[in-house]
This record gives sequence, C-alpha cells and structure tokens, in this order.
Amino acid sequence: MPVIRGTPLTGFPGVGEARAKKLEKLGLTTAGDLLAWYPRDYEDRRQVYSIRDAPLEGRVCISAMAAEHPRLSRIRKGLELVQVKAVDNTGALHLTFFNQSYVERAVKAGEEYIFYGSVELQGRRRTMVNPIFERADRQSFTGCIMPVYRLTAGISNHLLASLTRQALPCAETLPETLPQSVRQEHSLAAMEFSVKNIHFPEDEKALELARRRLAFEELFYLAVGLFFLKDRRDSEGAGRAVPARPKAEFLSLLPFSPTPAQSRVMDEVAGDMAGRRPMNRLVQGDVGSGKTAVAAFAGWLCAKGGCQTALMAPTEVLAEQHFKSLSALLAPAGVRVGLLTGSMKPAEKKRTKTALAAGEIDFVVGTHALISAGVEFARLALIVADEQHRFGVAQRAALAAKSGGEISPHVLVMSATPIPRTLALIIYGDLDVSVIDQLPPGRTPVATYVVREDKRQRMYGFVRRQVQEGRQAYIICPAVEENPDAALPGEERPALNLKAVKTYAEKLQREVFPDLRVGLLHGKMKPREKEEAMSAFASGRTQVLVATTVVEVGVDVPNASLIIIENADRFGLSQLHQLRGRVGRGPHQSHCVLITGTRSLEAMERLHTLASTTDGFKISEEDLKARGPGDFFGSRQHGLPQTRLADLAGDMRLLSEAQEAARNLLARDPRLARPENRPVWEQVRRLFADTPDIFN
Ligand code: ADP
Ligand code: MG
Repeated sequence: MPVIRGTPLTGFPGVGEARAKKLEKLGLTTAGDLLAWYPRDYEDRRQVYSIRDAPLEGRVCISAMAAEHPRLSRIRKGLELVQVKAVDNTGALHLTFFNQSYVERAVKAGEEYIFYGSVELQGRRRTMVNPIFERADRQSFTGCIMPVYRLTAGISNHLLASLTRQALPCAETLPETLPQSVRQEHSLAAMEFSVKNIHFPEDEKALELARRRLAFEELFYLAVGLFFLKDRRDSEGAGRAVPARPKAEFLSLLPFSPTPAQSRVMDEVAGDMAGRRPMNRLVQGDVGSGKTAVAAFAGWLCAKGGCQTALMAPTEVLAEQHFKSLSALLAPAGVRVGLLTGSMKPAEKKRTKTALAAGEIDFVVGTHALISAGVEFARLALIVADEQHRFGVAQRAALAAKSGGEISPHVLVMSATPIPRTLALIIYGDLDVSVIDQLPPGRTPVATYVVREDKRQRMYGFVRRQVQEGRQAYIICPAVEENPDAALPGEERPALNLKAVKTYAEKLQREVFPDLRVGLLHGKMKPREKEEAMSAFASGRTQVLVATTVVEVGVDVPNASLIIIENADRFGLSQLHQLRGRVGRGPHQSHCVLITGTRSLEAMERLHTLASTTDGFKISEEDLKARGPGDFFGSRQHGLPQTRLADLAGDMRLLSEAQEAARNLLARDPRLARPENRPVWEQVRRLFADTPDIFN
C-alpha cells in the first residue's frame, strides 16, 4: 500500500506499539509528521575513502570487503562482541561491534560494504567500533548527505532517517501554502522539492534552496502574525500621561549618585511617560549596571502622579528582594510598596489585591501572578518587566485586554541580555531601546578562574580566607530536578555526577566548614524557607550560601565577594555571566571560580572565554553562536511561536525579507480574504494557536 500523509507510523515496517509511543513523544504519529520534522543538522557522507587514505578525525565512509566470517564471542552476561576484518587493496580495517550479535549473520565474507564510523589507530592497526554499514551495491545511508534529527531515548537517528525516507514520496501531495506571487518575487523553491531536499539533499545547492524556502516560510507567517498583533496594539487605548517632576527629588532618596548613563535613561523614561502614547521601552544594561534604580525612578514618578506601577520579576526570590529594597528606598517618599507572589497565603494575597483595586498600593512587586486573573488595578500606568524575556508582544496584548482596552499601560522591559536589535523588534514589537553602558564607579572586574577537581581543597581554603576577611561566598550547583535543561544541547541525559545540592550543603557544613555558617537555597524549598535563607545571607547571618540557579538573576548582596560554580560546563555562557554578576557588587575585589571535571576541549574553551572577558555583549554573542536563540531565551521564553528551521538570530537577512513580503501582501489584502491568500491565514492561525485571542 502506498504511503500517504495520513498513514500512521504503526503502518511502517519495524514500528510496533513501543516504538510508536516513543515517536509520539516527539509529536510524530503519521507520515506527514515525519516530513515536517526537519533535521537539526547534516553529516556529509558523500566522500568514500580507501582504508589507508581515510582520515583519523571525525566519522568517515570506507569501502571495503569483509575478509572473513564475523566472530561472535560472549565476554560475560550482557556483553557480546562481534569482530570482523575488512580489507581493500590499501590495507586492513578491524571492526568491533558491541552487543549487536545480528552482525554475525548480516556481514558476509567476500561482500563489499560501506562502513561509516571513526577510524582509530591502535598501534599499527586501523580499527572502527560500532560502525554503521550497508552493502556497497545497496547504499542508502552512506554516499549521501545524511540528515541528523532531534531524538528521544529509544529512537535512533538511523531509524528516523529510514522512516522519513519511506515517507518521502508523499511530499508530492503537500499543498503549496505560499502564494505564487510571494514565491516568484523572492525566488523560493517549490514545496515538494524543498521538503525532499531538506531531508535528503541532492547536494549543497539543493539544500540551500530548500532551507531558504522553508525558513522563509516560517518567518513569513511569523511576520504576518506579528503585523496583526501590531495592528491590534495601534488600536489600543492611549496610556496615562505621567507628569514629569524634578529628578533631584528622587535622586536625594538614593544612597549614591547615578551614573551619567542611568541619568540619561531616567530622562528618556520620564519623557516617554509624560505623553499619552504608551511607552514601550527596553532598557539594556549589563549585570550590575544599576537598572533597578531606573525602575524605582519610573515607579516613583507614577506614584507622585497618582498612578500605579507593577514590577514583574522572574523568580520569587528576586521579587522579595526588590520588594525589600524598593520599600526601603521609596517608603520615605510616601510611596506605598506591596508584594504579590503566587505562593503567598491566600489571605495575604487577598489583602494585596484589595489594596491594589482600591488604589492603596502605588507600587506592587511580584511574579507573573501579577497578570493573573483576579488582579485589578485602580490606576495602573506602568508595567516593569525585570529580566523577563517571557514578557513579549503576546503578554503585552493580554495585559492591554486586561485594562479594558481603554488605557494601555506604559511598558518598561529591563534586560541584562544584549538582544540584537532586529530580534528585539520582533520579540517586543515596536520599541525604543535605552542602553546603560556604564558600570557604577569603583567596580573592579570580577577575577575569574577555571579550575579542575584536583584544586578543590585549595578552593575551599580560599572560601575560608574570604570569610575570615568578613566576606561571603556563594556555591552554585546545577540541580537536576529544577533544571532539566542543565544537560547541554545534544546530550540525551544530564550528567550523572551532578551534586545533589542538599546533601552537598550538609556535607560542606559538617566536614569542610564546621566552624562557618552554611546556608541552603534551592527552588524546591517552601517560599518561607527561601525567603529566610535569602535574608539570612543578605544580613550576613550565613556566610556561605549553597544554592541552585535560583539566585541567577538580580540577587544583590554586595558583601558577597566569591562565587563558586560547580560543574560549570553544564551552564550556558550567558547564564554563567549572570551568575558571576552576583559578586563584584560592593567595594571588594571579587572572584568567580568555575570548577569542572569536563574532558571536552570545547567546553574548556567556552569557560576560558568567560574567564577572559566581562563584556556581556561579547559573551552573549558567543552563546548565540554556540547554542542558538532557543536556548538563549530558554525554550519559548519570548512568548513567540517556535520556529523549526529558521534561526531568529542567525537569519536576520531572511527575516527582513520575510517581513517585507508580509507587509506587501497585507497592503494588497489586509484581511487575507482573497482565496489565494486563505492558506496563509490558516497557517498564521495555526502558528499562533497558543497566543491568547489575538485574531478575534
Ligand atoms: P542590575 O542592572 O544588574 O539590575 P542593580 O540595579 O541590581 O543592577 O544594581 C547593582 C548594585 O549596584 C546595587 O547594589 C545597586 O545599589 C548599586 N548601584 C546601582 N547604581 C549605582 C550607582 N550609580 N552608584 C553606586 N552603586 C550603584
Ligand atoms: Mg536587576
């Protein structure tokens, strides 16, 4: 029976119930799904070598003849070995297969095969372990550009590729969703060609054409959807005009003088808010550049103008801390500051909500609970999103709807992550950008060291000395439970030797620092406990804080001068930079120790990059290169639909081309009502299916 797009994967040879379940985990249930599961990478297996000429680096194809019947031996229970020698006229290759006893029957003496694997030299012997192989006269996964797919446990790339190859013929029946005019104008390949070549490219050129078309398509639908969103925003109500006031009045509350950069950004914000057009401003400033003071200023202005401010933080720990410092700063000026987090007791929450609705709180600090249902404001004028990349266009739309559509709040997004401008425009819509490009005076850059396990004892000694000098230290562990992404991309399971943070803290207290006060903070603790642990550290009652990445952003304890990051290779560079930003906030020379047991050269290189620079922009560029924007923002953190192929940060040119195409199409047919444009409308709707009521 021919495969059609609707053919269930259970109808494919070799796919039983168990495998079907695993495939379903990837969202794959039909042949059509396979076609839409684009490769994440490719392996060029076109070059076939002779045994002697095969390079000793990377995986290669070798054409050779099996010179003997394979030898099967059982080393012990659960360990079987098949060995066979292959030859060509340049030499011999010794092959070993672990636990693949079928190879004994599959490989026949005297037959030609293509073996794909890495060649290693053992003495003078050339060897290959667990190669992929196929008969030279029936090549299908060698001698070609091979797709590399995202996988899940129990599903090999080989399996996925062979299923996809079987599903490939039904690409002929895929509908062409891009309007003919757009395809012509931008020279985009046809659908069938593109899908076939994205999986099994004939050559580089074909792959490039296929990728261009499919990535363009994604960006095009994204752009069309965002134009609809923007349209909606333009018809939203005006903002509340917040009258400007002399800044000096606010500055007298601060314990320091602002840097010129802070001062400039404050003026920009005040200028925006004085108008009726809702502000939409992104403030970018590296870790420690003093963004909080800008937010405090904006909130102070609003309060003085009789309006309310809501500040959203990404974690409860940070919300608590902002609440404390903002209360201390602004209460003397008569600003009433409140707190609202998801885990507060219902009665406390109710009290805050009632006060907000009655206008008895001027400045509320919280987590995303702030935009949940049941929170009403008397006169909300400003929303500050602190280090929250999740707060994108879509959230903005939801909030506007919340304030009745009549009044749109001013929005201030604060981020330490330098986001390329085009990308920011896409994520946050039309926005203005302010940059705080100066650190407060007197900061010395954090000295960063990469150390190996053998220096562990010396490192503990260093902690002790810092504490003896009156300083404090963080010790950060990647914790599995709350950070499933701790494994690097491409790795199937997290490392096994991750320190379980709790036992580690206990052990440190008991065996290493019995005379010091060691605290513990992790995401699984009760909110009360978290708050206690944080304030014990902030006040100096604990001297060493063992924590997970819950302290990653924003936490500010100026007396802490040392941060140790365990298993540092498990973290992304931007994340490490954020963590490092927890120290170097006071007058003391600060240190960051990255401890690692990794054997990967690449990982070591990344860590050394971090050690050699404190330039947040450079670091995030490196990160972007290595990990792509998905990881950069955390998956889907920007609230935009996920793209499968297009790289929002890497495909800037294509992105602006797609944007232009979207603009042109909408100029001709604003509601996509023409029959030839209906498929576009359908695709956009599907893409934005998760974004609340955008298209009504
Ligand atoms: P971030 O931009 O990372 O949010 P913060 O607002 O938390 O930075 O500020 C970091 C630290 O620097 C805080 O302890 C803050 O009080 C202090 N700070 C901010 N601005 C100044 C300044 N102009 N002079 C001295 N210290 C400052
Ligand atoms: Mg901050």
